[in-house]
Parts: sequence; structure tokens; C-alpha cells
Amino acid sequence: MNKDCNCTPNQSIHCTVSNCAHHCQDSQYCGLNSIQVGTHEANPTMAECTDCQSFKLK
Ligand code: SF4
Repeated sequence: MNKDCNCTPNQSIHCTVSNCAHHCQDSQYCGLNSIQVGTHEANPTMAECTDCQSFKLK
């Protein structure tokens, strides 16, 4: 992602992961149109078991 581009906050995707390249730094939203959510667990039982798989390090 070109960091000079303005991030358009997707108000359907709240996110606080400011280390992510897709995060809109001045608001707590993701700039993507959609994200992929998955899990790293065989049998997920709580929110901590899930991951945003669209994460990209800034
Ligand atoms: S891609 Fe995932 S982690 Fe990154 S800003 Fe969007 S919702 Fe947050």
C-alpha cells in the first residue's frame, strides 16, 4: 500500500491495530473494503483464537 494515499475508513470494520499498513491512523478503522478473518486454533473458543489474516506490517 502506498502510504501517501489517504486511508478511507471502512466504518463497518473497527480496528485498533495501528501497526497494520491498512489501518487508518487518525481513526480506529480499517481502510480495506473487506478483510479475511481466520483462526490459528484447531478448535477456537474465544476471540483471542481468531486473527485478521489481511494484516500487513506497516
Ligand atoms: S487489515 Fe485487519 S489488522 Fe489491518 S487494519 Fe484492517 S482489520 Fe485491522
